[in-house]
Amino acid sequence: MKIPFNDLRRSFEIHKNEYENKVIEVLNSGRYILGEEVSKFEREFASKLGAKWAVAVDNGLNAISLGIETLGLGGRDEILVQANTYIATMLAVSHNNVKIIAAEPDEYYNMEPLEIERRITNKTKAVLITHMYGQAADMKEIPKICRNHQLMLMEDCAQAHFARYESQCVGTFGKMGFFSFYPTKNLGAFGDAGAIVTDDETVYEKLISLRNYGKRDRYYNELIGYNSRMDEIQAGLLRVKLKYMEDINGERTEIANQYISKISNPHIKTPRVRANATSIWHLFVVETANRDGFKRYLEEQGIATEIHYPIPPHLSGAYSKEEWTQKSYPKTEYYSNHLLSLPLYNGMEQEEIEHVINVVNAYAPEA
Ligand SMILES: *Cc1c(COP(=O)(O)O)cnc(C)c1O
Repeated sequence: MKIPFNDLRRSFEIHKNEYENKVIEVLNSGRYILGEEVSKFEREFASKLGAKWAVAVDNGLNAISLGIETLGLGGRDEILVQANTYIATMLAVSHNNVKIIAAEPDEYYNMEPLEIERRITNKTKAVLITHMYGQAADMKEIPKICRNHQLMLMEDCAQAHFARYESQCVGTFGKMGFFSFYPTKNLGAFGDAGAIVTDDETVYEKLISLRNYGKRDRYYNELIGYNSRMDEIQAGLLRVKLKYMEDINGERTEIANQYISKISNPHIKTPRVRANATSIWHLFVVETANRDGFKRYLEEQGIATEIHYPIPPHLSGAYSKEEWTQKSYPKTEYYSNHLLSLPLYNGMEQEEIEHVINVVNAYAPEA
């Protein structure tokens, strides 16, 4: 049996007619940029999350970049980011010419709250956490630490749409939450798309302007803005998918629970979920001593896997000359050498799930 790492067509097929009808509806509307679909998506997405406002943009990276830009930081200001995040989080900070301070993750792969206190300096202005692999970070301690040190809190939720901490959705704990709707994300568009959510009206107004050349009204430009708009077609398709969000996250949770309860190989450590937190299982990441050998073994058995991420940002060529990358990040490096993501996708068949479990349980590392 061949098992792909992901297969986006399967969840498309379930609501194929609705998606197709939506595309045709938008084509017939004659309005392709910043119309009804975008503003309806913004209202629906914000309300489902429990945020006041959402601003739809062209992708997740630009969501973070524009969000940081509204804070007006620069020069020698610093933003604290976790070292094991996907590099896009870092890129957004760099695009704003703000300095990166990296902090090590905890055992749930999320920002370690104590690390924030260890790494802040008198130039640190904000903390940008990433809810890694779908699981909410420690949203009891992190907001408290940010308040105590007067740091602005921002959340990269690109992997964690509707993950919760004590029933509150991630993205709503701080100044802003950033989302990507890249096709493989749990709420994935059919192309690039992203959004920022916020309860801060000033931030909201700035974002509406920044994404559209820096203007609120036609030809009155107040800011040096960008073209970072979400397409009507993507917004329409996202509105269709948003209706099925509980099913999407629920199905993934069901698969993850089977993996957790049935993978019993002592060489494979399955992920744990923090008390009071939920994961939406964007990725199902296991830890093992000989990761590359395990990956090869699964490949030979026809099971495709991925590594998230093989090169942590501080070891990437892009950041080789920066000051923060001269420090060592042993936990982050350990994770990048020992984690492996197993196939977990919507539309995965029960026999595929069981096959993965059986093959994983039959794995014996070479001595
Ligand atoms: C996917 C992702 C992004 C970037 O989103 P794009 O829409 O691909 O630009 C940013 N941060 C994290 C953690 C991501 O997983």
